[in-house]
Amino acid sequence: MAEHKPHPANVPGDFYVEDGCCTMCLVPFAEAPELFGRCQDPKGYPHCFVKRQPETPSELAKMVSAIRCAELMCIRYHGSDRRIQLALVDADSGVVCDILPPDLQRRVDAQEADRKRRVEELQTAQNWNRRARKPWWKFWG
Ligand code: SF4
Repeated sequence: MAEHKPHPANVPGDFYVEDGCCTMCLVPFAEAPELFGRCQDPKGYPHCFVKRQPETPSELAKMVSAIRCAELMCIRYHGSDRRIQLALVDADSGVVCDILPPDLQRRVDAQEADRKRRVEELQTAQNWNRRARKPWWKFWG
């Protein structure tokens, strides 16, 4: 399993933002502004972090929404609460869980295989489109 290093600014708890992957997608500040903060790395790059763990069902729903919409799957869950794991898997975001029981891991593996298949289909369709747009005399390449 890949190692995911939490950003040092995260508050203690099961949800965390992974260190070093921030493109400032701004999703967390739109989906759950009360749970996320923004800091400056020593190198001068901005980075988001979990400033408060969700405590109510509504905050948890906002956290799941931020995870689902974030660009790089960099908000992660390290806990073992099955209800939260299930909510993330149901949101097609179980891949952010560091720990999963075998039944949920199988679902995540199937989701990832499906995602990979769809990307490959899209790339094949794009390649065909590119070839179709090429002038007839450029038959090579
Ligand atoms: S979710 Fe990821 S990319 Fe978006 S602001 Fe947070 S760390 Fe940056």
